Amino acid sequence: MKNHGPSFFQEGMRFMAHCPLCQTRYQPSFVKIIAEREDSYLVHVLCNKCHSAVVALVFANLFGVNSVGLLTDLASDEVLEAQQRTVGADDVLELYKICRDGSLTELVTA
Ligand SMILES: [Zn+2]
Repeated sequence: MKNHGPSFFQEGMRFMAHCPLCQTRYQPSFVKIIAEREDSYLVHVLCNKCHSAVVALVFANLFGVNSVGLLTDLASDEVLEAQQRTVGADDVLELYKICRDGSLTELVTA
């Protein structure tokens, strides 16, 4: 069951509107949704200017919509492959845990 529509996604992407490295505004066509869940989206965003890529988890909780972004050197299809290799269905949640525990460089915590 879906509780959140595209507006939830749009709200989350407001936190990810600019490239963290060069501050260039992201082009919507460079945003790819890798995985979609009831309360979270995993997206891959490629910067048009410096070509750095960010994988962002946009999720909703009691406090509203949040997003966590990680710099990556994977292309979006590679992220998808890596995700498909993960055992278990909660890989998005797993990424969130990694973000929360700070095992990877946290760029954006809104
Ligand atoms: Zn950039």
